[in-house]
Amino acid sequence: MLKRWKAELNQFILLIIIGGVSGWAINLTGWGIAIVLTFYSFWLLIRLRDVVIWIEANDESEAPESTGIWGELLDTLNHQKKHNREVKEGLEDILERAQESTDAIDEAIVVTNHTGAIQWFNQAAVDLLGLQRPTDYQHPITNLVRDPRFVNFFNESDFSQGLEIPSPKDSQIMLQVSVTVFGESNDRLMLGRDITRLHSLEQMRKDFVANVSHELRTPLTVIKGYLETYLESLDPQQQRAIYRGMEQMNQQAIRMELLVSDLLLLSKLETESAHSSVAPVKVPQLLKQVQNDALAMNDEKKHQILLDADASLLLLGIENELRSAFSNLVINAVKYTPPGGTIEIKWWQDDDGAHMSVSDTGIGIDERHIPRLTERFYRADPSRHSKTGGTGLGLAIVKHVLKHHDATLDVKSELDVGSEFICHFPSRNTFRQAKNDQSQSVA
Ligand code: ADP
Repeated sequence: MLKRWKAELNQFILLIIIGGVSGWAINLTGWGIAIVLTFYSFWLLIRLRDVVIWIEANDESEAPESTGIWGELLDTLNHQKKHNREVKEGLEDILERAQESTDAIDEAIVVTNHTGAIQWFNQAAVDLLGLQRPTDYQHPITNLVRDPRFVNFFNESDFSQGLEIPSPKDSQIMLQVSVTVFGESNDRLMLGRDITRLHSLEQMRKDFVANVSHELRTPLTVIKGYLETYLESLDPQQQRAIYRGMEQMNQQAIRMELLVSDLLLLSKLETESAHSSVAPVKVPQLLKQVQNDALAMNDEKKHQILLDADASLLLLGIENELRSAFSNLVINAVKYTPPGGTIEIKWWQDDDGAHMSVSDTGIGIDERHIPRLTERFYRADPSRHSKTGGTGLGLAIVKHVLKHHDATLDVKSELDVGSEFICHFPSRNTFRQAKNDQSQSVA
């Protein structure tokens, strides 16, 4: 290219010399050069105009015909233009294929920036979330998916757990939404999965358990009532065999009754919304009652049951649910601690929140069972459960109650040494009771 430029320069100098010599011949050297320069500049401007028109056209037309340095310049530009067009078409092709493949996915995919402004979404987001192309681009996702639970979930930026919400387009469709933060500017990738079938199956299961438990309750009450009456009227000495049989039937009826009431309680916990009847709960007094109940059923084993509770620390929650959870933990400690052992109930607050713990010096639990303890009917030692008479639902109830209170359960245990069950409540749900109030309620 530089060679061409030099040739062009030589041509230019030659033209000036010709102009100068021709002018000199008629005694007008300056005019001769000026006329040559004017023509040359004019020719340059016309070339430039053709090039500008060709570049601006931005189409596939060939570059204007030209020779010399201009020809070479236009050839290079033409080549680069073609190359750029090919790269652009390639990228458009990739984008189109990416869009087509993500449109074929059943899950709604939405990409937003860190403030929640929508950058991109696939076809399933149109079908499940009701988003519209291209009008919804750059709009905040929380303006389009307006369910308050979703708005809270998105704004709080805690995406460790997903969220289930009805589809904004069709409330019959149930969606499971999860969000992942990615990239340096904390963009967000939101996935929405249609779980309507799963949800209705789960609903059917809950309804089934609740209905069966409810239906079993009445016949059981009748059987138990008659058994108790017959047992009272029988003479244990004379009709020992019948008496023993009936006594066992009565015990099993009592167990079934416990099972049915635990199942009903679990169904209720599963179906009721978490914040149904939240009120201030006097946890110290509640634990005192639980301690007294445990002492009352502890005649045989003679455990030492201690209570150490922060008297002014109250909790915003559902009293009946908390009573069930706390007594399940204490009753378990009684059941799984050999005679003479110690059980300690504690209620306190620190920087991490409020905590209620039940520790015992009982049989302990093998580490491998701990993650599964809150599953329904899961037993760490199935051989023992017939002796303890538990329903296998106690810790499942505890788990659900704690979930309703945004709380978590921690289990520490060592075989043959003892166990500790700790419930952690968030500080935002706790508050302090005034001094006079405390003395009144304790009295
Ligand atoms: P269960 O009615 O069988 O006690 P739970 O759901 O209350 O059912 O407890 C599940 C299992 O956890 C129990 O079967 C038992 O193996 C174990 N477990 C619960 N609490 C204790 C404890 N304090 N000490 C030892 N094992 C325990």
